Amino acid sequence: MNYKNPDGNGYYGEFGGAFIPEMLYPNVEELQKSYIEIIESEDFRQEYEELLKNYVGRATPLYFSRNLSQKYRTKIYLKREDLNHTGAHKINNALGQVLLAKRLGKNRIIAETGAGQHGVATATACALLGLECIVYMGEVDIQRQAPNVARMKMLGAKVVPATSGSKTLKDAVNEALRDWINNPVTTHYVIGSVVGPHPFPDLVARFQSIISKEIKEQLLEQAGRENPDYVIACVGGGSNAAGTFYHFVNEADVRIIAAEAGGFGVDSGKSAATTFLGTLGVLHGSKSLVMQTPDGQVIEPHSISAGLDYPGIGPFHANLFMEKRAEFFSITDDEALRSAFELTKLEGIIPALESAHALAVLDKKEFDENDIVVICLSGRGDKDMETYLKNL
Ligand SMILES: *Cc1c(COP(=O)(O)O)cnc(C)c1O
Repeated sequence: MNYKNPDGNGYYGEFGGAFIPEMLYPNVEELQKSYIEIIESEDFRQEYEELLKNYVGRATPLYFSRNLSQKYRTKIYLKREDLNHTGAHKINNALGQVLLAKRLGKNRIIAETGAGQHGVATATACALLGLECIVYMGEVDIQRQAPNVARMKMLGAKVVPATSGSKTLKDAVNEALRDWINNPVTTHYVIGSVVGPHPFPDLVARFQSIISKEIKEQLLEQAGRENPDYVIACVGGGSNAAGTFYHFVNEADVRIIAAEAGGFGVDSGKSAATTFLGTLGVLHGSKSLVMQTPDGQVIEPHSISAGLDYPGIGPFHANLFMEKRAEFFSITDDEALRSAFELTKLEGIIPALESAHALAVLDKKEFDENDIVVICLSGRGDKDMETYLKNL
């Protein structure tokens, strides 16, 4: 089975597709027809790759984590996405999509954001490339994430509160989709993860796939082989994980591990562990696993990390889960906090709370002494300092 690419209709196994209102057909079809040709053109690649190198700061280091390796008696490498401009992997996708939008003749960009990381990345790309930027954000999240709201405003973006439902991420996505329906000609919707109607899951995965491309090159140079024994990443919608797994999913010798946000625990009623709690459903334009009541009402997720606080999961990952190609762990808020403090103490790196969920897998799984374990450090912890200080 080819796990990497969806079929012509955007399906990974039984997951994916494009479930959208008729008003969005022209936009989505335009994208479906043109995205691969544009992003693989020489002209696009030159501009994108030059910006990734000199603006974003790629390649990000693959760091052999000596102290962590000693503690867990295995060989641990950290892929340092935290060192990207704006502090996380999100810029890889935001920059790619804004460049794509320009080539489609769009001059207005909309985006949704939860913690504000994707909003900041998109506002950054729009400032750089001279496009208007509107970011939808739940009213509750606007209050919780004041520093990122300030960054977006300084970057010239307009932040619009989503006031429906729980006033968080899923409501912001709904507002953004509504805007797109009303402005189909001028506007491109920069989705922030491997979710949404086809071709977004594939489009975003391709932009993030630079992560595993670099891991292969760097591991060959540092360890003498391209393939690690394990790759581990946290999953919210699943974009940093898709990028980390992309060039390994069809390599049978690489084991794949995804870390979901367990919140207070999967049975607590306050969790965001979608593969454990989800059932087949349609959310935000694609068929996937969704946390929902038997009659299809979306259940409010909970995670200590705003970036993982999402009731769905991208179809790419739902398929890896169903096919047992990836092993999924659910990590509680407390376990993530413990791992964040541990990495900080042992290596002098303060991780994002999201990334700390991936690190926490080290406590859940036995590795051999000679295993090479690559963990994606998706972002840095600056945005989480308030939470860390409360738990110090
Ligand atoms: C947004 C975010 C995530 C979760 O999003 P994915 O699409 O699942 O990668 C994880 N880590 C960081 C640092 C983020 O900002």
